[in-house]
Amino acid sequence: MRFHGLLLDIDGVLAVSWEALPGAVEALARLRDEGVPFRLITNTTTKSRADLATTLRGAGFVVADEEIVTAVVATAEHLRMGHPGASVFVLSDGDATADLVGIDLVDVDDADVIVIGGACEEFTYDTMNRIFRRLMDGATLVGMHRNLFWKTADGWELDGGAYLAGLEEAADTRAAICGKPEKTYFDAGLAMLGVEADRAAMVGDDIVNDILGAQAAGLTGILVRTGKFRAGDEARDDGRPDHVLDSFADVPAFLGSP
Ligand SMILES: [Mg+2]
Repeated sequence: MRFHGLLLDIDGVLAVSWEALPGAVEALARLRDEGVPFRLITNTTTKSRADLATTLRGAGFVVADEEIVTAVVATAEHLRMGHPGASVFVLSDGDATADLVGIDLVDVDDADVIVIGGACEEFTYDTMNRIFRRLMDGATLVGMHRNLFWKTADGWELDGGAYLAGLEEAADTRAAICGKPEKTYFDAGLAMLGVEADRAAMVGDDIVNDILGAQAAGLTGILVRTGKFRAGDEARDDGRPDHVLDSFADVPAFLGSP
């Protein structure tokens, strides 16, 4: 086996709009049967870790809650360690509170720390402007991740990273990022695997956040042509994946090849 462990993205790799991609359930089962250690590492913020595991099991995957690493859980850890006791405003899709236990969640106008997660209808001008005003008054900006867009069954969706970039430019600040592509997030996944970065690979559909991020953290990057993959992602000016596969279904055979 060329790798001692794998980190796997969820959305766009295992499933799209929570429907398993063709062959993905079988491929994950085969990895488990062959004793390949893995963790699912996601920037998805629409569900708590427990709900995510339940949803994946509903889609046919055999997966335990403990095998999933989420950007929301990483954000909670970042807030506890870096901003203990801070008043925090969270703007994100889904209900993050289940994974943010112990964090003092307040309205935007009272916040010392502003957390941006996945984008949704609540990303209005009014809310963005109130966030901007808090940042101008010295509040700290935190991103659950830096995803610019994702893809659902309905098509392309603009994500929180696009708003984060605008806020950073306008307020002349730089957000701390908790999920992918931050090295500390990959390190946390590797620690759960008990595998060194140079013996691990990341499988993802996002060339920037999954692949280039993982490579910067020392892992091998395997890009799949599903989910948000676009033609040209395999040959960008800012970096290239180590390997490109048509889909996650091809991963077990790829690992077994010389
Ligand atoms: Mg993805």
